[in-house]
Amino acid sequence: MYQNIRAYADHHHVALVAVSKTKPADLIRELYDQGQRIFGENRVQEMVEKYELLPTDIEWHLIGHLQKNKVKYIAPFVSLVHSVDSNDLLKVIHKEALKNKRVIPVLLQFHIADEETKFGLSIEEAESILTDMEQRPLSGIQIVGVMGMATFTDNTDQIREEFRRLKQYFDRLKARFFHESEVFKHISMGMSGDYKIAIEEGSTMIRVGSAIFGAR
Ligand SMILES: *Cc1c(COP(=O)(O)O)cnc(C)c1O
Repeated sequence: MYQNIRAYADHHHVALVAVSKTKPADLIRELYDQGQRIFGENRVQEMVEKYELLPTDIEWHLIGHLQKNKVKYIAPFVSLVHSVDSNDLLKVIHKEALKNKRVIPVLLQFHIADEETKFGLSIEEAESILTDMEQRPLSGIQIVGVMGMATFTDNTDQIREEFRRLKQYFDRLKARFFHESEVFKHISMGMSGDYKIAIEEGSTMIRVGSAIFGAR
């Protein structure tokens, strides 16, 4: 299954994040040996443990909700944080990046699903954060795009609608805050059940777990 999804992602020029949460290091290693380099985890401690066990050229993406007091554990090595959902978190990532003499790439996570439980910003909150940053730039972070999760539903029209909304948010922020930026280019959307729809709606990065690794 991995090879098929890999081929599909490559064909559409989207990055594939292999979501390895709850899966052991030896399964990650098997995929690594087939050429996969980007892995996504949603828990800090689990990501740190795997980072220490596995090759250093793996790009570790934090895709789950990130608590401010845990940023310090991943700041030395994380390649991309998908889940920035507050100004406070952004500031903490900035500070920890500076301590590590790094610039940490991040995505702004939007709440696009019709579910209470999913984290994420509204477009107004994101615009207020970015306006703030224009006044007080945060040199330790680089905002490289947006991320969102669609509602867990069989209704593909609804899923498509939600992805379309995320793409609109991306376009709006790009025009208003990043028109001269070449790094603000990512739309992280699409998981095992909906990555094909996400790609049709403009995803540049899909996060696929169970379709690669099997059910959790
Ligand atoms: C678990 C998870 C995924 C992958 O989900 P699958 O349905 O297993 O592909 C993608 N994104 C986030 C944020 C996740 O927590």
